[in-house]
Amino acid sequence: MKKHNFYAGPSILSEYTIKNTAEAVLNFADTGLSILEVSHRSKEFSAVIEEAAQLVKELLDVPEGYHVLFLGGGASMQFCMVPFNLLKKKAAYLETGTWAVNAIKEAKLFGEVDVVASSKDANFSFIPKDFVIPTDADYFHFTTNNTIFGTEVRKDIDSPVPLVADMSSDIFSRPIDVSKYDVIYAGAQKNLAPAGVTIAIVKESALGQIERAIPTMLDYRTHIKKGSMFNTPPVLPIFSALQTLKYYKNLGGVAAIEKIDIEKAAKLYDAIDSSKLFVGTAATEDRSIMNVCFVMKPEYAELEKEFVEFATSKGMVGIKGHRSVGGFRASLYNALPMESVDALIATMKEFEANH
Ligand SMILES: *Cc1c(COP(=O)(O)O)cnc(C)c1O
Repeated sequence: MKKHNFYAGPSILSEYTIKNTAEAVLNFADTGLSILEVSHRSKEFSAVIEEAAQLVKELLDVPEGYHVLFLGGGASMQFCMVPFNLLKKKAAYLETGTWAVNAIKEAKLFGEVDVVASSKDANFSFIPKDFVIPTDADYFHFTTNNTIFGTEVRKDIDSPVPLVADMSSDIFSRPIDVSKYDVIYAGAQKNLAPAGVTIAIVKESALGQIERAIPTMLDYRTHIKKGSMFNTPPVLPIFSALQTLKYYKNLGGVAAIEKIDIEKAAKLYDAIDSSKLFVGTAATEDRSIMNVCFVMKPEYAELEKEFVEFATSKGMVGIKGHRSVGGFRASLYNALPMESVDALIATMKEFEANH
């Protein structure tokens, strides 16, 4: 049976990415060796990491003065790397979900943290709008897409201080104005590659302004100076990332991808909104086009388990909601085909007809 992969992360990758990665595991760039066993300093791999950085710059229109880094440690490592490198006295954070909470916790180790607004009391079902970013903050940090709660900020915020964004689960789903940011970071395992690599786009002039000593591996300047090769980078995930980036370029870039992503999400939200059984959990105006969270209406709550089982029997994978929201979550990352959205909607309609 055809499987439809709605996992939130690690998550679906394009067939192009998986096929080319599988081939390189057997024979990388005609070396007669596996990508798993070649030096990261070989000319073949150097070409991979350089092209990957170049394509990130091209797809996101990264201006001069910025560096694209491939780092280990996951997006969670960036929760401490950002304040380590940028927080002099005070930073401002927007608290919109679990990942923001985790980022705030780390920043507090380095200085004062001003949480400008939070939707915690509403189980993070919306993005706070009425907040003021203090002009004396060293930076303002926000999460563009709240993977667990299905809310998203789909625009580049206007900020009086430098912006830092965790774009782990929606990077490459829209054009962004990189010049507004000092740091953008994203764990690869949502929209780019297998787990193991994190992209950071860092403005060089934002660095070197703090007094504290930074451990070598946690200092962005180390990785800038060495082209992400200070130590052994995650070779295989970077190879896969390059395949996905090529695939994105072939699709026509992020503006073309955004159109399809919006269409996919609109279809599913329409199906939820017109259903007698299901209801969305995120505020309508803040709905994520990457992670669609929905539950059974209270009067049908007892059908939840049955629906997950039914959907599983129809080939749907990974639609069980995160424990902090319950119900269901369908992640519609870039690589998910429209066909899978249609299949999920058909499954929902069939289940509804049976109840
Ligand atoms: C998944 C995720 C993270 C955590 O990523 P790791 O690579 O597991 O550390 C952080 N932020 C967001 C928005 C995420 O979706």
